Amino acid sequence: MSSQKPAAAVPVAIRTASGWQVPGIANLHSHAFQRAMAGLAERQSNPQDSFWTWRETMYRMAARFDPDSLHAVATQLYVEMLEAGYTRVCEFHYLHHAPDGAPYADPAEMSRALIRAARDTGIRLTLLPVLYMSGGFDGRALSERQQRFGHRVESFLHLLQSLRAEEDARLRIGCSFHSLRAVPEAAMREVHAALPQDMPVHIHIAEQIGEVQDCIALRGTRPVEWLLQQFPVDARWTLVHATQMSSAEVKRVAQSGATVAICPTTEANLGDGLFPLRAYLDEGGAWGIGSDSHISVSPVEELRWLEYGQRLVTRHRNIAVRKDSPSVGETLLQGALDSAAGATGFSDNDDHIVLDADAPILAGARGEDLIDRWIFSGNQPLVRQVVVHGERVVADGRHRNHDDVAARYRQVLPALLAG
Ligand SMILES: [Zn+2]
Repeated sequence: MSSQKPAAAVPVAIRTASGWQVPGIANLHSHAFQRAMAGLAERQSNPQDSFWTWRETMYRMAARFDPDSLHAVATQLYVEMLEAGYTRVCEFHYLHHAPDGAPYADPAEMSRALIRAARDTGIRLTLLPVLYMSGGFDGRALSERQQRFGHRVESFLHLLQSLRAEEDARLRIGCSFHSLRAVPEAAMREVHAALPQDMPVHIHIAEQIGEVQDCIALRGTRPVEWLLQQFPVDARWTLVHATQMSSAEVKRVAQSGATVAICPTTEANLGDGLFPLRAYLDEGGAWGIGSDSHISVSPVEELRWLEYGQRLVTRHRNIAVRKDSPSVGETLLQGALDSAAGATGFSDNDDHIVLDADAPILAGARGEDLIDRWIFSGNQPLVRQVVVHGERVVADGRHRNHDDVAARYRQVLPALLAG
């Protein structure tokens, strides 16, 4: 019946005197320290190079960080995020201790370095301290390089509690389980039972085929299936990657109300595989984007590649659409906006960005085609202003501390790259 047809979607971009205003975008998955190794794992070390060989390079880099260098790298990254249009970031943080695994005098020192970086730049931060306990599904001990990630349940809950006291209008504290392979079932239950009901919960789930095989071998089911059977997964949960899903898992995740954090550029960079986007959209699933390893810091590129990956495998065009939303760009951006509150814990979004209405690429733009033109027209940065919590942190395309932050980043990089 035509009377039941959904109303046409309202364009998310509004023309204002200063340009095209668009709501701020949430980045649902970040490991800030990995920004320092972007572009440094692109030489073949072995014909079988994969996620697992990349991880060795990542561990070498992770071992060199201290609170000061983490602050410098995160500050630079958050400036880049704001300039690209991200106004909130979920930081999946597991570099907790000194490299030998000994806690710092303040066990939250590395967490506080990230909080400082967010406050210095003005981005909203959902800090997700990560529970990381074992080196595999069989419960093996952490390797030498994983020592600084490790926690016992009690110290982890204590960390969450001490950080909760810092929450304010721009800071939320959530909880992350690194993955099913890194957290034994009993510990996961104990932590989950102790969490405040409103706290966001994130987990890496089913990124790699090897991890699916290990889970089947040791727990008898696939990771997504196991999680859905064992925990009350709902809208407070964010499943990061969820790349390897059966069609039954796609349906059940969508029905659960959980958000999937898709990280298209990182998933491509690591050779993970392709998220089953069309099937997931057909089931009405919630999803958002993350820049994860930060080989790209651009919501435009994440959304564009989310769509292009699907086009390449299906040999069709215009995949991410709905009946009431035929524009790919609008559908993608709206999807990322809709999931942000549940995944970040920030219930409102009064942050916005302003795109350059004078840019030649946007000449003659209308509200209905603005987002498509932004996402599918190349790599000219079009973000001119960014306003977070009523404060303008980016003007004329540059963050207010752009130069100082970059100078400090250049200073700390040599020590991180040495060795
Ligand atoms: Zn990750």
